[in-house]
Amino acid sequence: MPVYEYECDVCNHRFEKKQGFHDKPVEKCPKCGGKPRRVIRSAPVIFKGSGFYITDSRKKVPEPEKAKEKPAEKKEKGKEK
Ligand SMILES: [Zn+2]
Repeated sequence: MPVYEYECDVCNHRFEKKQGFHDKPVEKCPKCGGKPRRVIRSAPVIFKGSGFYITDSRKKVPEPEKAKEKPAEKKEKGKEK
């Protein structure tokens, strides 16, 4: 079972909980009863061995922003009622 890490927004209490995929996320901090949020730990990505080739050799160049002059529409609101 994967271990999920939670951090409480209220008291910053960190705890881990073993949960199955079908389990509901923890909704209560064991310390203060606040709502914790799940901290996603980034797992290290390891590429093993050869045979991994990047097929997309084209570099994706970001499109240059179109230098279109847009008239700034600033409509001042009238009197507020
Ligand atoms: Zn808490």
